[in-house]
Amino acid sequence: MCERFIYESPIFSKNKMFIGIDDTDSEKGMCTTYIAALLYEKLGTTGYPRLIRLNPNIPYKTRGNGAIALNAKGNPKKIKESVLETVKKYAHLQNKKTNPGVVFMEDLNQKNKKILNDFYQKTVSEIVTIEEAEEIAKSVKAEIHKFNNGRGVIGALAAMGARLSDKTYELIAYRTRKDYGKQKKIDRNSVFEMNEKTYPETFDNIDPDTGQILITPHGYDPVFCGIRGNSVEIVKKAWRILKPLEKIERIQIFETNQGTDAHLRKKKISGLEPYDCAILVGKVISNPKSIEGGHVIFRLSDKSGEVDCAAYEPTGEFRDIIRKLRVGDHIEVYGGIGKYPTTLNLEKIQILKLERAYERIPPECCGRRMTSAGKGKGFKCKRCGKKLGEDAAVVKEIPRDLEFGFYEVPPRARRHLSMPLIRTKK
Ligand SMILES: [Zn+2]
Repeated sequence: MCERFIYESPIFSKNKMFIGIDDTDSEKGMCTTYIAALLYEKLGTTGYPRLIRLNPNIPYKTRGNGAIALNAKGNPKKIKESVLETVKKYAHLQNKKTNPGVVFMEDLNQKNKKILNDFYQKTVSEIVTIEEAEEIAKSVKAEIHKFNNGRGVIGALAAMGARLSDKTYELIAYRTRKDYGKQKKIDRNSVFEMNEKTYPETFDNIDPDTGQILITPHGYDPVFCGIRGNSVEIVKKAWRILKPLEKIERIQIFETNQGTDAHLRKKKISGLEPYDCAILVGKVISNPKSIEGGHVIFRLSDKSGEVDCAAYEPTGEFRDIIRKLRVGDHIEVYGGIGKYPTTLNLEKIQILKLERAYERIPPECCGRRMTSAGKGKGFKCKRCGKKLGEDAAVVKEIPRDLEFGFYEVPPRARRHLSMPLIRTKK
């Protein structure tokens, strides 16, 4: 697709008010996307609003670490009033961990576009401070509004600046207020039918191993469901197949960086910083071991340093692949540095080269294998009584039960930004 030539983000069109919003939700609910959906209706916005996911590893994110950006035409003063009023009304301001930020810009020239896109590239992959965001806002003459500690200005600015070389869409359906807190009701068969008819152009609808429905996350009110796909047409088609068994207040389609690996950067191990998102190439230097809680960990080395890599318990059967790695294997790993400073949380791996594995077995005599005469004492034949030393052992190659190529965590454990392998085949 020659998107580069035909696609100019609606965010950057002329004579509009550019709006960025982030961090309005709390563990108890709300979703910044809902505020975007309300504003989309209210402001007469053009183009799709954008849902921009940012670094999933940073510790103070509320839930999915998603910010939104949209644009509107009209009286700037009225637009600002309307946005701020809506944020104040719907954001969970009473929660101290909810720190909304709202950013307005009336003009975006080439230079400022670049500054904001560079800021986005950093925010999606590393850690950024509020002070840095405020500096950037000042330099591009953006108007910022902070609520509580206002950390949301980081995401609001980044969402506004994101230039997406790859993008996906999400159709989000919202529940009516009377159903908040209740179990989400959907015809299960319709979800499987939708998946059958639209996958892989839509993705992560269900988890094939557990049969779990992933489009209707638990909690997360007011979100009823979210369908992710490669085009507007496919998420609309998918929505038409679904049969919700409760009233839907509204639906909204977002342009997003979900499922694009936008957060990952090729790095050297020695250059890793806390909360980085990275792609590393190296050699396995310790066999994987299972630790308490069902996590599997091994150590990886490149010429610059060493790092522990982990497949955590929720990644399920992905751990079975990791357990098969052996010292000497060459692999590429994709993931983020989480709360343990030196551990990379694996999202997917590529096996580049498998080390050959050998075992030493007793030689044969009288038509059958000799038995061990004791540790380090060689072998003996039970039939004729012949004895042989340790050096008579036969070296046999152990077949590696692994193949070259990519392996990924199951959909239920996938991060919003991680590209499903099925999309890489596009
Ligand atoms: Zn014998």
